[in-house]
Amino acid sequence: MRTCVGCRVRAADSELLRVVLVGGDVVPDPRRRMPGRGAWLHPDERCLAKAEKRRAFPRALRAGGAVGVDALRAVLAGGADTGGGIGAGSSRAVEGNRKQVDPS
Ligand SMILES: [Zn+2]
Repeated sequence: MRTCVGCRVRAADSELLRVVLVGGDVVPDPRRRMPGRGAWLHPDERCLAKAEKRRAFPRALRAGGAVGVDALRAVLAGGADTGGGIGAGSSRAVEGNRKQVDPS
């Protein structure tokens, strides 16, 4: 379990997006492989807004100053493919919704 830096709700790793600090910017790390300190956030603009308001990123990422979130916001706003893992449960299959085919 991880805690979202925006809404402070605990959630499973798979429900949160890992972000890291790269050159003063907060960027998504969907593969969770980037080095350095990471923070966890729901892939949701509202949580991003909350995190910004609370200055959660500089604190969580030990930035020691303001950080840029434009890249991250663009990803969340665009609903862009973050590389897998996030929202894996959203690809709902339409099983059981098949129409019975009349063989005649
Ligand atoms: Zn959240």
